[in-house]
Amino acid sequence: MNKPFTSRDEIAELYHRPLLDLVFQAAEVHRRHHPSQEIQVCTLQSIKTGGCSEDCGYCSQSVHYETSVAREKLLDKKEVLALAKEAKEGGSTRFCMGSAGRKVKDDEDFAEILEMVKGVSALGLEVCCTLGMLESKQAEQLKEAGLYAYNHNLDTGKNYYAKVVSTRGYEDRLRTIDRVAQAGISLCCGGILGMGESENDRIDLLLTLSELDPAPESVPVNVLVPIPGTPMEEKGQRVPTLELVRVIATARILLPTTMVRLSAGRESLNEVEQAFCFLAGANSIFSGDKLLTTPGPSADADKTLFDLLSLTPQKPYSREA
Ligand code: SF4
Repeated sequence: MNKPFTSRDEIAELYHRPLLDLVFQAAEVHRRHHPSQEIQVCTLQSIKTGGCSEDCGYCSQSVHYETSVAREKLLDKKEVLALAKEAKEGGSTRFCMGSAGRKVKDDEDFAEILEMVKGVSALGLEVCCTLGMLESKQAEQLKEAGLYAYNHNLDTGKNYYAKVVSTRGYEDRLRTIDRVAQAGISLCCGGILGMGESENDRIDLLLTLSELDPAPESVPVNVLVPIPGTPMEEKGQRVPTLELVRVIATARILLPTTMVRLSAGRESLNEVEQAFCFLAGANSIFSGDKLLTTPGPSADADKTLFDLLSLTPQKPYSREA
C-alpha cells in the first residue's frame, strides 16, 4: 500500500517532486487500483441554463456578468431523457445534469428533476446532478430517486476561494458535501486551475480533497476556459499542460481509488498531452462538444484518441462490482 499522506507538508513535498518521478509513482498507484486501459466517459448536460444569483468569477451563467448566455427555463423531461439515451448510444456511461442556481428550492422544478433522475437511472446510466447547495432532505430525495453522484466543486484552495466567489464561503460548500455523504450519495468534487491561484492554493485544494471522508468518488480537474464578460477573462492565466499533469498525478496518489476526470479545457490539449494526463492517473473524461456552456472535443476526435491509445470506455457501476 501507498504511504498515506496526512499533513500539508507531506502533500506539498509530493506535489513538488520531480515531475517524471511523480508521474511514475502516480502511474503505479493508478495501475494498482484501476484497469489502465479503461476510461469513464461522461456526458454533462445543462438542464437549466443561466440566471444564477451566485458570482463565481469564471461562470457564464451568473447574473452578475454580461455574457452571451441567457436565462432559460428547465428543459422538458422528455427532451432530457432523449439526450440521455443519445449519450448512452454515443458511449457515455454517466449522465450529469447541471442546473444553474445558488441552491435547490422545493419547487416544481425540483420535483421534475427528481423524475429526470429516475428516468435517466432507468436507462442504466450512472446519474449525477449538480444543482447548487442542498438541504439534507433534498439530498435524501435525490438518493431515493436513484441519484448515484452529486457534483459540488470546491474550485480552489480555501484561502483563495473569496477571490473567486463572494456570494458564499468554503464552509457552505463543505456543508452541502457533508449532506451528500450523509444521504449515501457518491461525491464528485474538484477544482479549476488557472484562476490566478498560487501553487500553495492548489496544494490547499488537494489537501482538503484528501481529507474528505468518505473520499470523493470522482475529482474533476478543470482548466479555466476564460469567458468574455467574467472577471476571469482578465484574471485567468494559461495553465501549462505540465502543471495540469502535476495536479492530476498528485490527486491520483492522494486519492488512489477516485476517478480523476480530465474536464474543462481538454479540447485545447493535443493527443500527446491527453495521453500524458492519462498516464498521470486521469481516467475519466466528458464527451461531447459542449460542457454546460464551454466547448469540448468532438466525438470523432475522442474516437481517434481511444483507438490510438487502445482505450475502452468503462462500464456503468463497474466500480461497485
Ligand atoms: S458556477 Fe454554478 S453557482 Fe456559480 S455562478 Fe455558475 S451556475 Fe451559479
